[in-house]
Amino acid sequence: MNSKIWLSSPHMGGNELKYIHEAFEKNWVAPLGPNVNGFEADLEGFLGNDSHVTALSSGTAALHLALISLRVQADDVVFCQSMTFSASANPIAYVCAKPVFIDSEPDTWNMCPESLREGLTASAAAGKLPKAVIVVHLYGMPAKMDEITAICNEFEVPLIEDAAEALGSTYKGRNCGTFGEMSILSFNGNKIITTSGGGALVSKNRGYKDKALFLSTQARDEAPHYQHSEIGYNYRLSNVCAGIGRGQMEVLNERVAARRKNHDFYVDLFKDLDGVDVFTEPNTDYFSNHWLSAITVDPAKAGFTREDLRMKLLADNIESRPLWKPMHLQPVFKGAGYYGNGVSENLFENGLCMPSGSNLEPVHFQRIGTVVNRMMSMS
Ligand SMILES: *Cc1c(COP(=O)(O)O)cnc(C)c1O
Repeated sequence: MNSKIWLSSPHMGGNELKYIHEAFEKNWVAPLGPNVNGFEADLEGFLGNDSHVTALSSGTAALHLALISLRVQADDVVFCQSMTFSASANPIAYVCAKPVFIDSEPDTWNMCPESLREGLTASAAAGKLPKAVIVVHLYGMPAKMDEITAICNEFEVPLIEDAAEALGSTYKGRNCGTFGEMSILSFNGNKIITTSGGGALVSKNRGYKDKALFLSTQARDEAPHYQHSEIGYNYRLSNVCAGIGRGQMEVLNERVAARRKNHDFYVDLFKDLDGVDVFTEPNTDYFSNHWLSAITVDPAKAGFTREDLRMKLLADNIESRPLWKPMHLQPVFKGAGYYGNGVSENLFENGLCMPSGSNLEPVHFQRIGTVVNRMMSMS
């Protein structure tokens, strides 16, 4: 059996262990310390735009704290992009609010501005606007931020930006992760850089950072004893894990370049086949980190389905995966509201994420190319 080719696996830069050793030498083996502060400073430097960063134990925790900071409560409504990983929507349930899902548009596969407007118009008419809108940059592709920001401003609903997959992506030259009232990042093992597990809350507003620091360390009031007037959480990032993050920040730009080269490889691989589209930026306003390279297959034109290709890759021990299943189709969110036109359903039906690690080697590309070329020559 050939060795496994993963969809996206961790890729260390080399200096991660140096920072971990420092943590051990100085005995900062705790959820605070120089690596946590250093990692936050690295991210703030990278993101620019006066970003304040709070390093947390996961991207999911960051979204949870964002909703709490916006005072989202039981029976409030939160709009969320339907086509995404469940971690974008689960925190809505943590605060006992009601998710309403918004469909995608075909250019960026992200939140459709028209469906968002339709949903907000209906909510305003019913006298109950959502407390927040959660937009996602899927697979690193920036969403239509001008349109979405303008609509949220018009209805005065705060925008939370889920940039978990989009560190290193830009929209009109500005970093993803700096558009929202609050934004979140993830450093899970499969993301473009990793801390093994981790995340961050980002905001221009220093007050949100202070609030996140307070909530993520058990909401301790100022007092010599332990005193609490709010429910707290244990969501701060470990100083050991933050050491991995500092090493990874040194190679982030290289990781973006490598993932973008993966995308170029797939564009070239599928260029002669009519029925396969490689997911690409609509124009130069959009710069994707191409965290995952994805394709859509039109079976009528290609002569094979997404599943045919996935199974052929699997037979050679190559991992690929269908696109995110939209949240409005998930059993756990049955009965939730939805505005849209079936765009995300269609993407889910025909889309496939291809191996996209920044650590893929020529021999891996060769194997992927062989399977795909065989598939195409048979169709
Ligand atoms: C990975 C991911 C998250 C969650 O991040 P964790 O750090 O794994 O909790 C949230 N949203 C999206 C879109 C993601 O891909």
